[in-house]
Amino acid sequence: MTFRDLNIIEPILKAIEEKGYIVPTSIQEKAIPAALAKRDILGCAQTGTGKTASFAIPIIQHLQANKETDKRQGIKALILTPTRELALQISECIDDYSKYTCVRHGVIFGGVNQRPQVDMLRKGIDILVATPGRLLDLINQGHIHLTNIEYFVLDEADRMLDMGFIHDIKRILPKLPKEKQTLFFSATMPDSIIALTKSLLKNPVKIYI
Ligand code: AMP
Repeated sequence: MTFRDLNIIEPILKAIEEKGYIVPTSIQEKAIPAALAKRDILGCAQTGTGKTASFAIPIIQHLQANKETDKRQGIKALILTPTRELALQISECIDDYSKYTCVRHGVIFGGVNQRPQVDMLRKGIDILVATPGRLLDLINQGHIHLTNIEYFVLDEADRMLDMGFIHDIKRILPKLPKEKQTLFFSATMPDSIIALTKSLLKNPVKIYI
């Protein structure tokens, strides 16, 4: 099995090959085809398994494929992650895989001046990587609208709950459209996480790494 067997479009394959990756990791081999088939995903996987590419690649591919026909403005994919470090890592990963596409992305997180982030949002992006607190702030100030979200990723969900983000998440979720594809990742599956997956995921493909 190589990335060429996963029906990935040429501009993304080129970027993957430039990174020197030939063989998908176990989660990529399972999650990429499921996500490309528009299925929700429940992924039980730690950092280091290659999970970032497993959600980034299908999202970039869908957005690139729909670029010609979909003239709707606004953010189409939201990736929520608990920390600034993870947000930046995910953003770099999207940078790499989207470099030969016209898909645009941006990243926001707390603890820094919001001005440059607002300026970035004004230019228009397709994918937003965000930590929950700053996302809520910018939504409440009217800088972000989630009405056109088609893809929603909840990354490191267990860490998100451990860090006390459940209230922020509960405020964000109702702002997302009902019809969307949700990709949910957590390293562990305690009851609180299972409850959250039940309210969020529709008949998900379950992947345990
Ligand atoms: P992640 O779990 O997404 O944080 O990825 C862990 C590390 O594995 C990152 O440094 C990735 O760049 C790298 N990686 C991801 N996919 C592959 C792959 N198919 N082959 C080799 N390395 C990879």
